[in-house]
Amino acid sequence: MAEVFNFSAGPAVLPKEVLAQAAAEMQDWHGSGMSVMEMSHRGPEFMSICQAAVRDARTLLNVPDNYQVLFLQGGGLAENAIVPLNLVGRCAKPAKVDFVHTGSWSGKSIKEAAKYAHVHVAASGQAGGFTAVPAQADWQLSKDAAYVHVCTNETIDGVEFHFTPEVGAVPLVADMSSHIFSREIEVAKYGVIFGGAQKNIGPAGLTIVIVRDDLLGHALPICPSAFDWQIIAQNESMYNTPPTYAIYIAGLVFQWLLKNGGVAAQEQRNIAKARILYDYLDSSDFYQNRVEKNARSRMNIPFYLKDEARNAAFLQGAQAQGLLQLKGHKSVGGMRASLYNAMPMEGVQALVTFMQSFAMQNA
Ligand SMILES: *Cc1c(COP(=O)(O)O)cnc(C)c1O
Repeated sequence: MAEVFNFSAGPAVLPKEVLAQAAAEMQDWHGSGMSVMEMSHRGPEFMSICQAAVRDARTLLNVPDNYQVLFLQGGGLAENAIVPLNLVGRCAKPAKVDFVHTGSWSGKSIKEAAKYAHVHVAASGQAGGFTAVPAQADWQLSKDAAYVHVCTNETIDGVEFHFTPEVGAVPLVADMSSHIFSREIEVAKYGVIFGGAQKNIGPAGLTIVIVRDDLLGHALPICPSAFDWQIIAQNESMYNTPPTYAIYIAGLVFQWLLKNGGVAAQEQRNIAKARILYDYLDSSDFYQNRVEKNARSRMNIPFYLKDEARNAAFLQGAQAQGLLQLKGHKSVGGMRASLYNAMPMEGVQALVTFMQSFAMQNA
């Protein structure tokens, strides 16, 4: 098999050890004679897989006892509706929700929430082209909001929060789809944390939701039962058939993280990997990253060739070196290197080596 480094923003690279274990267990999980895909979700085998995944996720993120860890379907985008469906019922009508608009994904969340509540944009990075996180001192938060929504890592714009917002008594909701498990977080500062699995956890089709107990039980009557967090919590994520195989792979990824020192150790590796690429980008006059230094994402690093006419040649040359899926999101163009947990240091080094030689040959 060709050795490649996969920089996709998602679905994205998974640890080789995890894929090897899944392959070895594909047809016969632990002597059961069954593939995980073939198991009843209510049988003892899968129940043990799911319980271990929840337990390990709780350990990795230090989740306090008064929070539930739920597995749902629908991805990050469905949560944009599921969050208001579960939370706006706590407030007097017409419900109001606060948003911090830092890029494409929080922008999509705003549009969706507007179907269920009055949306107030408390701060926006739009005027600056989404190259910064607006300073918290400038956020115009409402006292009576049902919640405050932030996207703590904007996957397309490459903007990451490097602080935990302080929003007082109003529940803080964070879309962490593209950096959950990449860094330590203070779960207790949030009301709800959600993320689609396909960026940093496992296969597409699984969504993880971490929710504080007092935020359960307020779903609007129109909320689909399968998306009512209280019902999901009461049924330990088995109200309907969960994405069983995706949960199994996520569980293997959690074990891999634990074996490698947990999230704190992974965060140090992620800092080191991102530094290599940013340092090179900043030293080069052939490429550039436009995000302010204090808001740069460690996970998703967009960059541009100063001469965009060379984009196609760059991508072709990278592909020939086994450096895959570097094309930037169509809405912003350019390139993007995603350095999720499973991207090894050697991948970043290979990318920078290629970028150096491409710059030299095209100078
Ligand atoms: C990918 C992504 C989403 C959307 O996830 P889907 O699974 O496609 O719904 C939402 N938010 C962020 C920050 C993302 O990176």
